[in-house]
Amino acid sequence: MPVPLVDPFGRRVKDLRISITDRCNFRCTYCMPAEGLQWMARDELLTYEELARIARSASSSSASTRCA
Ligand code: SF4
Repeated sequence: MPVPLVDPFGRRVKDLRISITDRCNFRCTYCMPAEGLQWMARDELLTYEELARIARSASSSSASTRCA
C-alpha cells in the first residue's frame, strides 16, 4: 500500500515534478525573473542516479511523478 507523501505543512502531495535542469526555457514570471538567474554549476545539480532514486522513492508514495 502506498505511503502518502506529506509536506511540512501537513498537506498531502499528489504530484511531484522533478526538474532535471535549472535552465528551463518556459520563463514563467514567478520562477524566472526578467533580470535572469545565475545558473548552478553542473556539480551542484543532482546526478541521473540521484534523480532516479528520488523518482523511485516518490513512486512508492501515492504521488504521481514527472521529470521535466
Ligand atoms: S515554473 Fe515555469 S520557468 Fe519555472 S521551472 Fe517550471 S516551467 Fe520552468
